Amino acid sequence: MTIGWCFDNTYSRLPEAFKENINPVPVKKPELIILNKDLAQRLNLNFSGLNNKEISELFSGNSLPPESNSIAQAYAGHQFGHFTMLGDGRAVLIGEHLSKKRDRYDIQFKGSGKTAFSRNGDGRAALGPMLREYIISEAMYSLGIPTTRSLAVVKTGEEVVRETPLKGAILTRVALSHIRVGTFQYIAARQKKDELEILLNYVIERHYPNIKKSKNKSIDLLETVMEKQIDLVINWMRVGFIHGVMNTDNMSLSGETIDYGPCAFMDIYDPKTVFSSIDQMGRYAYCNQPVIAKWNLSRFAECLVPLIDKDQDKAIKLATELINSFEKRYEEKWLNMMRDKLGLFGIEQKDKFLILDLLTWMHQKKVDYTNTFCHLMNFDIQKNENFNDNDFKNWKKRWQERLKTNNNTTEKCIELMRRVNPLVIPRNHKVEEVLNEANKDNLEPINQLLQILKNPYIYQKNINEYQVPPVSNKKYQTFCGT
Ligand code: AMP
Ligand code: MG
Repeated sequence: MTIGWCFDNTYSRLPEAFKENINPVPVKKPELIILNKDLAQRLNLNFSGLNNKEISELFSGNSLPPESNSIAQAYAGHQFGHFTMLGDGRAVLIGEHLSKKRDRYDIQFKGSGKTAFSRNGDGRAALGPMLREYIISEAMYSLGIPTTRSLAVVKTGEEVVRETPLKGAILTRVALSHIRVGTFQYIAARQKKDELEILLNYVIERHYPNIKKSKNKSIDLLETVMEKQIDLVINWMRVGFIHGVMNTDNMSLSGETIDYGPCAFMDIYDPKTVFSSIDQMGRYAYCNQPVIAKWNLSRFAECLVPLIDKDQDKAIKLATELINSFEKRYEEKWLNMMRDKLGLFGIEQKDKFLILDLLTWMHQKKVDYTNTFCHLMNFDIQKNENFNDNDFKNWKKRWQERLKTNNNTTEKCIELMRRVNPLVIPRNHKVEEVLNEANKDNLEPINQLLQILKNPYIYQKNINEYQVPPVSNKKYQTFCGT
């Protein structure tokens, strides 16, 4: 029985400057930890004919599929506002796999050894962060949010040295592509217009063929990418997701959430929530995510200027006008998303105040974001005195009045809310708990968590322990130490 690989490696055929041809560095003793059978099926891949050893050899990069063609991609990026030349320093793209429906997916090994772009890094990754990416990216997928996905994690049998020695691992990441705003920044910095045009046409051909015949392809690409990013950030805001490191190299042009480093889900509602230990200024705080998305899109627009118009002033004017429409587009979509969370049909002027007043109340009372919406859907997780608060009761009366203008049945309203308000999210303390166990070779807890997170909008047996917020008030911190 064959696995079903169907490679067509278009990115590797781009000019030399775009990448380095390099194979993953073999590892000592690969051992499969987790394989995503659902995703494999979606990709029309079948690993059931392989034994565990063969699967481990495959996903460690020790034995590559014959049609693959590994490269490390070059890119640049603004990291916390500072421009740097980067590139895949610890990842290789082994190729683009086509599913039976001819959908194209990048297959990338993360933690696969040094490349030309490794700078001072070791090119490796640790087990904890790779399993963490697996959990959160799969949770995001099930929440209905565009994201890269995780096909497998293998231990390498080697140590990686961070603050302490850790178990090494490799994650197989699946993405619509790994082209980032930073990819454009890298090519734009080389100041060769022909290369920039090649990249523009490549991205349009691969992701947005509908604008192939546009009069101004670069401005239309900018607008399309802007809409994708707005939709993405609104999805993040909907579920309380904080990416944590929205550098321009971590913004994918396909509109997928990419690079799960210090990301985490907010529990108590506070717009200024930051989990990442290195984000001291709160640049990537929950409420700043749309602001940063706009900032990153402005950097993208700068790269495109030479292609927008021969007349530079005119090009800048066009790009600026478009970028300045961000807030209006965002606010409209954000309001609609929040209307959905509250089960509101139609549009009323007062909706905005109703929404903002709820958020202000949640912030003041320090209540759990996810579970407040569960309460509104008559789905209480635990006893919470806050919901007996008079301010909340008054707010609820206003909300119920507004629901009467819905012109829709209560069932429809609840149905709408149930579609957008998750009953369960990957809570930080739960994620830590299962990672600790996995590190001790107990994989049962992680598998249970993954199972629950597969259906975040549906009530499941045993769901309660995954819904309860952490008891401790200790501030949760995430680390880039990957
Ligand atoms: P990230 O913070 O994951 O977005 O990574 C930023 C840059 O650092 C990218 O170019 C990565 O490839 C690179 N990088 C991160 N960790 C390592 C590592 N252990 N070895 C080499 N490069 C790395
Ligand atoms: Mg990155």
